[in-house]
Amino acid sequence: MKPILPGSTVGILGGGQLGRMFAIAARRMGYRVHTFAPDVDTPAGQISDVEIHAPYEDLDTVRAFARNVDVVTFEFENVPAATAAAAAEFAPVRPAGAVLHTTQHRLREKLFLQGAGLPLAPFRIVRTEDDLIRAVAGLGCPAILKTAGFGYDGHGQVRITSPETALDAWRSIGSQEAVLEAFIDFDRELSVVAARGTDGAFVHYGVVENRHQRHILDVTIAPAGVALEAVEIARAVMEKLEVVGVLCVEFFLARDGSLMINELAPRPHNSGHFTFDACVTSQFEQQLRAVCELPLGSTEQMRPAAMANLLGDVWSKGTPDWAAACAFQGVKLHLYGKAEPRPGRKMGHLTALAATKEAALETVLAARAAMCRS
Ligand code: AMP
Repeated sequence: MKPILPGSTVGILGGGQLGRMFAIAARRMGYRVHTFAPDVDTPAGQISDVEIHAPYEDLDTVRAFARNVDVVTFEFENVPAATAAAAAEFAPVRPAGAVLHTTQHRLREKLFLQGAGLPLAPFRIVRTEDDLIRAVAGLGCPAILKTAGFGYDGHGQVRITSPETALDAWRSIGSQEAVLEAFIDFDRELSVVAARGTDGAFVHYGVVENRHQRHILDVTIAPAGVALEAVEIARAVMEKLEVVGVLCVEFFLARDGSLMINELAPRPHNSGHFTFDACVTSQFEQQLRAVCELPLGSTEQMRPAAMANLLGDVWSKGTPDWAAACAFQGVKLHLYGKAEPRPGRKMGHLTALAATKEAALETVLAARAAMCRS
């Protein structure tokens, strides 16, 4: 196949910050960018040449969008399968709709991973009240009940602390198809962001450590310096799923040193944002290269780094003090162009580069604290 070269047009399904950073990387390399999202003035749309504003279910508009681009990629995996299929009538869609189909549904994803012999937390399928009662008895408490479809950042999840509260927990997520997962008393959470080309070439950004608050990623520290075998698991996932593009595998590192996959994201990931400033080729440029069939770039990390998310909560006492963050040497400020800083909403992030990962973490946390007005 001929590579899709600079000057061509890349289409992005989804309008969020991942699409924005992808669009920045694409425009830097001389590509044109069209975005398709249900909203207007989206973070990605603000950076794009053309912003199409329509529901994902509007397949005629999806087809018109795909007709005007050379390749279609995603920044949001919960795009309906029919949308990906309609786009594929007119342009290559990378990663393929089949990858989205597997990864946008927890149960399909878990069954795929289990079938591939890859490690994951013990789970049970819950479709009825009887299933739930049996699952709680089988896995014990605490356990986490997660909706099978369309979950992210802790949405559609509830912790079950005793068998008596299980039915209420299921009702609280709409009594829909779900997965009950054993609660993992993990030592740490880790992730691997990697990329794969149409020719099967594979590159990765090593293993990074992630710390969450209220189920939302708070901080990433790179490199993690542990569990390097996670990279081989990520490679196996990408090969078995035949991914073209970037994929993130999130892991739990158990106290006995074993790794379990928590979930997959078939796109650049929040835990790879540090690559924008710290690596020779960012995860966003890597996605562009992969979907355009260019050689994948060096993933070399130039300095240890730490990334801290800026959620809407940072605005609770007024507009953050941007200058205070910028005064920290080695700290980079990223804002996603979102107008409304709601609590829990990802508004931006800071990345700190330093001589050691410990120093990077200390700096990024100090910079974030300095921004919040007292
Ligand atoms: P998820 O949306 O499934 O990635 O979950 C968000 C966060 O909730 C994870 O990053 C963990 O911090 C926590 N979590 C989810 N599932 C489990 C589990 N089975 N055991 C312990 N913590 C969990």
